[in-house]
Amino acid sequence: MPSGSNATRRPGPTRHIFVTGGVVSSLGKGITAASIGRLLINMGYTVRIQKLDPYLNVDPGTMNPFQHGEVYVTDDGAETDLDLGHYERFLGQPCTRDSTYTSGRIYQTVINNERAGRYNGGTVQVVPHITDEIKRAIRSLVDDNVDVLITEIGGTVGDIEGLPFMEAVRQFRHEMGRDNVVLCHLAYIPYIKAAGEIKTKPAQHSVQKLREIGLIPDFLLCRSEERLNKEVKDKLALFCNVEKEHVVELNDVAHSIYEVPLLVHRQGLHQQLVRRLGLPERECSMHEWELMVRHIRSPKATLRIALVGKYINHQDAYKSVTEAIDHAGYAHLLRIELLRIESDALEKDPDWAARFDGVDAVVVPGGFGKRGFEGMLKAIELCRTRPIPFLGLCLGMQAATVEFARNVLGLAGANSHEMDEKAAHPIIVLMDEQKEVVQLGGTMRLGSYPCTLTRKSSRTSKAYGGAELVHERHRHRLEFNNGYRKQFEEAGLLFTGLYVPNPDEPEKSLVEIIEIKDHPYFVATQAHPEFKSSAVSPHPLFKALIGAAWKARLSS
Ligand code: GLN
Repeated sequence: MPSGSNATRRPGPTRHIFVTGGVVSSLGKGITAASIGRLLINMGYTVRIQKLDPYLNVDPGTMNPFQHGEVYVTDDGAETDLDLGHYERFLGQPCTRDSTYTSGRIYQTVINNERAGRYNGGTVQVVPHITDEIKRAIRSLVDDNVDVLITEIGGTVGDIEGLPFMEAVRQFRHEMGRDNVVLCHLAYIPYIKAAGEIKTKPAQHSVQKLREIGLIPDFLLCRSEERLNKEVKDKLALFCNVEKEHVVELNDVAHSIYEVPLLVHRQGLHQQLVRRLGLPERECSMHEWELMVRHIRSPKATLRIALVGKYINHQDAYKSVTEAIDHAGYAHLLRIELLRIESDALEKDPDWAARFDGVDAVVVPGGFGKRGFEGMLKAIELCRTRPIPFLGLCLGMQAATVEFARNVLGLAGANSHEMDEKAAHPIIVLMDEQKEVVQLGGTMRLGSYPCTLTRKSSRTSKAYGGAELVHERHRHRLEFNNGYRKQFEEAGLLFTGLYVPNPDEPEKSLVEIIEIKDHPYFVATQAHPEFKSSAVSPHPLFKALIGAAWKARLSS
């Protein structure tokens, strides 16, 4: 993809695109913002993207996945909103700590400043202190090389807690000059079945709400299940006070979210945006992306993959995992049918094994706490013995080693300290540096760490294309107990990836990846490889899992 290196330099300052949402949440603001980013990158612009979230948690790291979906982790160890996952997957570049700010984080900074006496005795207020800090957060991603910064504002216009962010955007636009800042408003346009009509009123109301706080949108992005005809679009333009060409349709896509960049490209949103921002119009080749989407649309077969976890009922709790499974499917021209299995349901169901009939591979993802852990062990035992290709992620790796200890090594009472503090055989234990930790937020082993691949002939090493050192992201407090390593190895469980902080002290190394010998594919990792997968570049461990599942299917 073009990087902008040979492109003509943009005139003037970094331009800004703000994306707000109206009417209801869950409209796909993140995917829309990311799609805009993709188009601008394909035009050769250097783009950064960030999300400002109005809730008061400092970050989503302490939130229950049932509340907020997956916690996405960046290379630099920030625990963030899952929209950052969409940003990375669509833009193909890593986000950082500055790619996301919540109200909680903004307030924390301002209150710390106040305690340190940095406001010289002044009264500290939402305007200007909080709004100034929000503007600083926006500028934290701007430098001379950045052509466009896209900033998504979480929540929906009209939310009380979103007001300081909206006010900061208003001020920011005033200070930067209207020509350098564009406001895109994403609104829901419902289709009322009983009346057989598309309704524009909710969108009009949400634009009115924006106008009340001094924000006039330049673009109206219309999320709708039905196509909008010209009459409806003209009406929206007139009553929402935007140019006719600035009304863009975002209908439901047929196959995958990766069609959204093509959908907005077809409508020329990229040209309209750069024109409005006074940037040189450049060609925007979507050839590679189109090719990828064509692959997605024409799979040669369907594979059935079971995801066994405890937050299964929340659609977004394992967002990056389900994405990574799909990406791996695309790589093999396969469609993935995902079977979501709640792990504690396996504990109660006497006929639980039947649920895995016809399953081509199993993934056990990360998680916290006791609920459903024994169900994960059952699923893993089935994968090991039947055998079914298996990939364990973080808690999934911890569970795989506990299962092996109990059922292969015969260590009764083997467990993780997280599930049983008095376990007779503590296979998984709290990491040393975690023992003194009392605060919950931001204190796990977080972010990217190197992992040495120890065995050239292993499936792990082959999956990673023979690399000797790889980097993966982490989010955990417990680790494999090195005291048991020898016993495991002798019984055929290989430690194929290790974190080696100091080569002179091998006993301090940490188990990162395991696999079982003589199995089509039984690999598990302490890391979260799903965070680094994208449709353009599927993650090797997922790709190898799907490859093994397909091979098994062909020979069955
Ligand atoms: N609860 C386990 C730990 O803290 C696993 C964490 C995870 O799966 N992200 O080590």
